[in-house]
Amino acid sequence: MKWKTHVAIAIALASFITKNPIYLISAGFFGILPDIDFWFHRSGLSHSITTAVVASASILLITHFFYELDFLLAMMAFIGIGSHICLDMMTLSGVRMFWPWKKKVVRIPPHVRYDNPLMNHTLTIISIGVLFITLQQ
Ligand SMILES: [Zn+2]
Repeated sequence: MKWKTHVAIAIALASFITKNPIYLISAGFFGILPDIDFWFHRSGLSHSITTAVVASASILLITHFFYELDFLLAMMAFIGIGSHICLDMMTLSGVRMFWPWKKKVVRIPPHVRYDNPLMNHTLTIISIGVLFITLQQ
């Protein structure tokens, strides 16, 4: 999916846990983080559940070292990266979700191109609707 869709979904999902704008923005940031490796895109390194777990655990260690354990920030990292992986599973390319243990590419329907306008716009609109509802509560 496109980066705006990743950001929208990550923020919408995070809004079920917190309404703090700093954490919501961090979830959006983590939502686009896996696509930073554009040279090795979906090699498995960035688009796997392993990366989501390692990144979240690293945030726990780093925040503990510099300040105090920030479970919420670690959770935002897991939501952002995890939702990114789930969205990319719906694309034609799929993801190596269980890298490095299994190199099999995982895909789920609807198997669209990452830049499919209907899919990206629909998911973004749903995310904005979900965010609107969760922030009202
Ligand atoms: Zn991606």
